[in-house]
Amino acid sequence: MTTSTMTDRQPTSTTGAVRPELRALDGIYRARGLHWVGDGFRVAGFFSAIPDAVRKLSPFLLLDYHPTYEYAPTDKPRGVGVHPHRGFETVTIAWQGSVAHHDSSGGGGVIGPGDVQWMTAASGILHKEYHEKEYARRGGPFQMAQLWVNLPRAHKMSPPRYQGIVAEQIGVVTLPDDAGSVRVIAGEYLGVKGPAKTFTKVDVFDVRLEEQGKVHFAFPAHHNVGLLVMKGDVVINGTQATLHDFAVFENVGELVVIEAESEAQLLVLSGEPIDEPVVQHGPFVMNTAQEIDQAFTDLQRGKFGHLAD
Ligand code: MN
Repeated sequence: MTTSTMTDRQPTSTTGAVRPELRALDGIYRARGLHWVGDGFRVAGFFSAIPDAVRKLSPFLLLDYHPTYEYAPTDKPRGVGVHPHRGFETVTIAWQGSVAHHDSSGGGGVIGPGDVQWMTAASGILHKEYHEKEYARRGGPFQMAQLWVNLPRAHKMSPPRYQGIVAEQIGVVTLPDDAGSVRVIAGEYLGVKGPAKTFTKVDVFDVRLEEQGKVHFAFPAHHNVGLLVMKGDVVINGTQATLHDFAVFENVGELVVIEAESEAQLLVLSGEPIDEPVVQHGPFVMNTAQEIDQAFTDLQRGKFGHLAD
C-alpha cells in the first residue's frame, strides 16, 4: 500500500483526529431459497450463497434465518432431535414463537420473543431443539435466527456452556431523533455492553429503524462485518438493500451507515476474524481433518454424553 492511498483512506480533520472512513461493500447476497431443519425450522441459509464466506465473515460460520411463518397448533412439538456439536457455539435469537433446548451437559431452557440462547458446544454436546410445548399447542407466528460462531483453537475443547439470555438483560440504545433502537446482544454499542460472554470479540446487534431513521456503526477495519435485512428497505453506505438481503463488507474502512426508507429491522454482525484453518464436517468445526475424525470416534464412544430423545 502506498503512502498516498493511506492518506486517501484516513483523512484527518482540522483537529488532526482520524475520521472514520465508509466501509467498502463486498456485495449483497440472497439465500438460495428456504429449507427445513428437522420439521420445526423453515430457514434461509445465507452463508452457502456467499463465496468464501468462512474467511469473509469469520468468526461467524453460519446464519440460518427463519422468517415469520405460521405454525398450526399441535400436541407434538416440531423441531430437531438429538444431534451433536463440537468446536463452536450456536446462538439462537428469538423474535416470535418459543424454543426449548436440552443438552447432554445439563444445559437447557426455553427462549421466547426477545430472548437469546448462547450455547457453547466446545468439547462436545448432544442437544435437541424443539418448539416449546405451550407455544406448539397454541401455534402461531415463529421468527428466529441461528448463528454459528467459531471458537479459537485454544477453546475448541473447553467445557460446554449454556447462556440463557432473557430480553430484560439485553441493553437497548435508543437512537437520537426517534430514529429507532439497537439491542446489544453481544459486544458494545455507544457504551452499552451486551450480556453474552464470548471467547473472541463479537458484536451482535438487533436493530430497528423507523422510516427515514438513520444509524452509524464503526467497526475496526480488520473486523469482519455482515448484516441481514429482516424487514424494510434500507440504504447501506449508499447501496440499496431490501428484505432478506445480506450485506457483506470488505476490510476497508470502518463506518457503516444505514438509512431506512421504510420501517426496518436488521441483524448486524461483526467480529475479529479467527486466523486459523477451518475444517468443517456437518456439526463439527475443527482446525484439522484429524480432529474431525477424532470427533466421530469420541461421539461413538459416548464422550459427548447422553441425552434421551
Ligand atoms: Mn443444533
